[in-house]
Amino acid sequence: MNSISILDDRYPVKTVFTDNSDGQSHEGWHRVECRNAAFEEYLRVPLSHVFYAYEEHTGNVLVVTSENVEDLEAMDKDRIPEQIGEYDALATDVPHTMLCICTADCLPLFLYDPRQNVAAIAHCGWRGICNGIVSNTARSMVEHFGTNPRDVVAAFGPSICKGCYEVGGELKDAFARRFLPQEVQRLFTSLPSGKFLLDSRNAVALELLREGVRQDKIHDVGICTFESDDYPSFRGEGTYVKAERQMISGIVLT
Ligand SMILES: [Zn+2]
Repeated sequence: MNSISILDDRYPVKTVFTDNSDGQSHEGWHRVECRNAAFEEYLRVPLSHVFYAYEEHTGNVLVVTSENVEDLEAMDKDRIPEQIGEYDALATDVPHTMLCICTADCLPLFLYDPRQNVAAIAHCGWRGICNGIVSNTARSMVEHFGTNPRDVVAAFGPSICKGCYEVGGELKDAFARRFLPQEVQRLFTSLPSGKFLLDSRNAVALELLREGVRQDKIHDVGICTFESDDYPSFRGEGTYVKAERQMISGIVLT
């Protein structure tokens, strides 16, 4: 288990991101029952207080408040999407409520507002970014909890880096619908093959800056999942990384 020290060392918050050494007994997208003992012990959060995103590359955010937390806890976690729809990010101001996502190359985005004591986490793949997941998550903190974006501390967990993320030109068209031409220019580097390298970390940063988050409060753990043997990589393994092989990222207010 690893943590985002820039957050854990300074604020009443606990973060986690797992690596390949944390075992592979994860039972599926929506359950941590998996790394259960270790996870629960490490986080000191009962599993009923753990909420997952459903990784559908949407732009939707689940906001957990003191008003709805008990109803959400009582639901069968696997049936939450049927009842309230799919989402790829979560935000809360309720202490001891753990927000989690699973990834393998996509960027886990941790957000924390120390003034209002609000935490959020978002699963940022290229589709989700183009669907507005980054700005929607930041805005959910503003709208539901009164966050001032200038107070927000952002951290990027392990993800595929701009030197490794080879994509086709059709992604450029998708990004052109969300980003300015000069931004798209910066995000994509053309290769002799006709393909491109995508800088998804920069795309997430551009979205945060647009929402008013300060540049000097955006941090990156700087780990490339494709290059490292310690983290699952969708692209590195050449095939679909099964749910039980994805890394889990989480954040909880203590
Ligand atoms: Zn890389």
